[in-house]
Amino acid sequence: MENDETLLQTAQLMEAAEVLIAVYDQDDRIRYANGAFRAAWFIGADERPYWPDLMRRNFQANRGTIIRSGDFEAWLLSTLARRGKTGFRAFETDLHDGRWLWMTETMQANGWMLCVASDITSIRSDERTLRQDRDNAIKASQTDELTGIPSRRYAMAKLDELLREPGDDSETLGCVAVLDIDNFKYINDRFGHAVGDRILKDFAATLQRHVRKTDVLGRVGGEEFILILPRTAPEEAQVIVARMLDAVRRSRPMPEQVSFRYTFSAGIACGKSGDSAADLYRRADLALYAAKMRGRDQISLDPTMRLG
Ligand code: GH3
Ligand code: MG
Ligand code: MG
Repeated sequence: MENDETLLQTAQLMEAAEVLIAVYDQDDRIRYANGAFRAAWFIGADERPYWPDLMRRNFQANRGTIIRSGDFEAWLLSTLARRGKTGFRAFETDLHDGRWLWMTETMQANGWMLCVASDITSIRSDERTLRQDRDNAIKASQTDELTGIPSRRYAMAKLDELLREPGDDSETLGCVAVLDIDNFKYINDRFGHAVGDRILKDFAATLQRHVRKTDVLGRVGGEEFILILPRTAPEEAQVIVARMLDAVRRSRPMPEQVSFRYTFSAGIACGKSGDSAADLYRRADLALYAAKMRGRDQISLDPTMRLG
């Protein structure tokens, strides 16, 4: 065995340590508890309580370990059934004072037990902050900052998802519409960029009122938007986009200039299983180009698709 100096230093270190330390004997009576442990469970300096009595009196005083069961004796019974049954056990404990502890119990064959607990309150709240930061970052990457609707990244992922759904070759998985505001460059030049931004917001909000729960409207860039319509036939897609054309025609986003109105054009294409998102988008974009060529403020369908 070590000399007295070692024992003395060890005792002093344990007493001053921030970790909570206790030693129980084979009868579950506390033989040693350091300052941090005594403070957490309200044990007097010269006290040697039995563990069940210690837990009971703290439960009655609403302090120490949080015991969620209202029935203390039932809780004690089930806890005693697990206590000291394995060589080592580790678990989390909440204290009434708001602290979270990581507790470890180390058993000796003769029934004596060492209990060491560390305060992990800050680690757990750091993790929570980290989780919230991550959730916010994901949300931001999925959202277009100006309009608040889904971003290009999110919309394209949804399109990919739709095209990966099983279906036979002849079956339409859904439609895609590319929507582009007409003469937007003119609006910007004539009224300024801030008004342009306001039109973009109005556009997104006006369309959004006609977007069904299963549809996705996203901003892919500038004044170009994508509308994904899963399990929708081209005729139905056309009706929905026509409703949007009408709503935008009737919108008056500038209260100080009630005569101001704007329009958009749309190209619609249909997706079948096996199509790539890029190809489907390209076909809808070609249809959009045709709508622009025909004079804007209208819908054009991808000529390669057959209407049923
Ligand atoms: P078309 O009818 O053929 O679509 O003509 P257009 O003028 O709408 O098309 P064009 O692509 O020539 O112009 C788009 C303009 O959109 C150019 C760019 O300055 C403007 N723009 C792109 N992003 C934003 C934005 O976030 N805010 C504003 N205010 N303008 C933007
Ligand atoms: Mg445009
Ligand atoms: Mg454009």
